Amino acid sequence: MQTREKILETNARLGKIFGKPKLRGGNPVETLVGCILSQATTDAQSDAAYHALVQKFPTWAKLRDARVSDIARVIKTAGLANEKARYIKDALNFIERERGEINLDFLNELSESDARKWLMQMRGVGPKTASIVLLFAQKRNVFPVDTHVHRVTRRLGWISEKTSAEQAHQILEALIPSKMYYQLHINLIRLGREICRAQNPKCEMCPLNDLCAYYKTTRVRAKH
Ligand code: SF4
Repeated sequence: MQTREKILETNARLGKIFGKPKLRGGNPVETLVGCILSQATTDAQSDAAYHALVQKFPTWAKLRDARVSDIARVIKTAGLANEKARYIKDALNFIERERGEINLDFLNELSESDARKWLMQMRGVGPKTASIVLLFAQKRNVFPVDTHVHRVTRRLGWISEKTSAEQAHQILEALIPSKMYYQLHINLIRLGREICRAQNPKCEMCPLNDLCAYYKTTRVRAKH
């Protein structure tokens, strides 16, 4: 089976097991702040931190003007609070300086590649965060690669072992049909968290094991 066929089959199988999440779109500044908060923590903790943040600082201007230490105190449940507080404040200042207001709607007028580059000028914003903002908030044709998507797609053999997460964005965008980006992103993360874990992946119970390069190699090795 060619990689493209494997991708279609993977999307269909994971859709049946994990469901077909709908892309709703949203405010890109909210998505950016939420994504910075979500780095290296659980969804529940970053959601709690986001909620606390908007309670304490109900406007972007209030958040931008707050001291880093005050922001960090409010978001401490999300971990790396000082670093994240600095990134959030820097991002809001950067957007306002460049655009004259804290609003990212103009990104819709840029190409995907230019919009991603624009976002990545901000400290703490790499290709994953930029792609999440563009896909989740603006429904743009980009495929975000986080640590789970990177690990799982390497094991499945869609990208090589040596491909970095950064390089994987463009390679996977070319391989995966754009209408599948959101569902596949969400469901590969779920597979990565629940089954294809970094340590001891549960290959025997994985719905993709007959499509997986890693499983094929390890099973052959185990027989010898
Ligand atoms: S078969 Fe194993 S390595 Fe391959 S995707 Fe499933 S859990 Fe991951």
